[in-house]
Amino acid sequence: MVEFLQQRRQGLAKLLPPAEQTLRGSLIERYVTCGNPHCKCARGERHGPVWYLTVTLGPGRTTSVVVSGEQLEAVRRWIENYRKTKENLEKISEINRELLRRQRKKAKR
Ligand SMILES: [Zn+2]
Repeated sequence: MVEFLQQRRQGLAKLLPPAEQTLRGSLIERYVTCGNPHCKCARGERHGPVWYLTVTLGPGRTTSVVVSGEQLEAVRRWIENYRKTKENLEKISEINRELLRRQRKKAKR
C-alpha cells in the first residue's frame, strides 16, 4: 500500500505543469464605452470585448490587467495550469498525510 501511494505521488508530481506557465486569476470579458459622446458606444453599441485578468490579492483587494487578443490563449492555458497545479499539490499533500500516518503506525509496532 505504501508503495502504491508513493507511485501515485510520483505520477502526480510528473503531471505538474511547468511552474513558469502558471497564472492565478480569472478572465473577465467587458464591453466598454470610450467617453466620446458622438461615438456609437454612447448610443449603446459598446466597444469590445475587452478582456481582463482579475486577481484577488487579499480581503477586498483585487487587481486587474488588460489581456490582448494575442495573449488570450496563453492566459487561458496558464490559468488552467494553475488550477491543475493546485489540484495535484492537494492530492500529493493528501498522500503525504497518509504516508505520515502509516510511518507512525509502523514505528509503534
Ligand atoms: Zn466609443
